[in-house]
Amino acid sequence: MKFSDIIGHASAKKRLVAMADSGRLPHAILISAQTGSGEMMLARAFVQYLHCTGRRPGAEDSCGECPSCRLHQSLSHVDLHFVYPILKRGQGVTLCDDWMAQWREFLTDDPWMDFRKWPAMLGKPNGQPVIYVDEADSLRRKLSMSARASNLNVALVWLPEKMNTATANSLLKLIEEPEEGSLFVMVSNSPADIIPTIYSRCQRLELRRLSDDDLVEAIGPGINPADAMAAAHVAEGNYIAARDALGSAESSRNLDLFVRLMRLAYQRKVGELKKWSEEVADLGRDSICRFLDYCQRMVRENFILNLRVADLNYLTVDESMFSARFCPFINERNVEGLISEFNEAAIDIRGNAGAKIVLFDLAVKVIILIKG
Ligand SMILES: [Zn+2]
Repeated sequence: MKFSDIIGHASAKKRLVAMADSGRLPHAILISAQTGSGEMMLARAFVQYLHCTGRRPGAEDSCGECPSCRLHQSLSHVDLHFVYPILKRGQGVTLCDDWMAQWREFLTDDPWMDFRKWPAMLGKPNGQPVIYVDEADSLRRKLSMSARASNLNVALVWLPEKMNTATANSLLKLIEEPEEGSLFVMVSNSPADIIPTIYSRCQRLELRRLSDDDLVEAIGPGINPADAMAAAHVAEGNYIAARDALGSAESSRNLDLFVRLMRLAYQRKVGELKKWSEEVADLGRDSICRFLDYCQRMVRENFILNLRVADLNYLTVDESMFSARFCPFINERNVEGLISEFNEAAIDIRGNAGAKIVLFDLAVKVIILIKG
């Protein structure tokens, strides 16, 4: 992870670079931010910068190409020791290292670090992960060995607020009497919940809220700009909240578009369907393809509902209300045809065919398949 991979936080990046370049690092740094700020990405970029052997003067970033950077990018640098809240496995000692595979997957899949998803990755969606005292003992051993690939051992602690008192007391000793060539980087979403003796020992860097423009950039291209802006606005600097807002807005829009398509097709309102296809075309290619995937799912679910195989049904409340009356229209005669038409339209759209034409053509085929 390079600083340039991270959206926003210009002044924090500058401060971290200056701190590293000065050669006078504190023993412990606390980066705090509301969740969804990209705070872990920033911490990872900082450690990669500290270890980088190919830094170029004035670049203010790691090179991304030296052996050390490559090890960081594959999450396997031996002088970076991750500490994070975990769940106990059985009766014995459980350490972060026992969850390394899940941790790497989590960091890779969601570098924004949505904590709500973490317990499920540990196998218990309702679990309450904690940093246990055994971890402090393990860390002491790791930090007491000299750094193997660089001259700096870094303990990167995700969510120090999840330590219990025993862990905090044990870690405090490590911070007060640090091993030579070791550094703590802590990343917190709730600094007020960190045990005060640890909090007061850290040099602190509080990240500013990401701007709406930053969030729109993070949401990325392929999303309708108005949708991205609306999601950014409600999210108040939290990318995870923006992503949630976008997801739920999209689900309800997809249902609305599907319902309208089916009603208009049943009523053979060709002029209205033309307007419908223009409206969908304006969503942009990625959103259209997700909508067409959604249509296939709805057709499949309604067919299953029609067969009265309730156990196999996965519908939201709103979808169920519509489907209760709609499902009789999906049957053996048209289910495959409909799925195949939605699928082919998606293939055409992905292949850059004109969206309005593809969608209108699709709507006309739906008329024939629904009316029989
Ligand atoms: Zn490098």
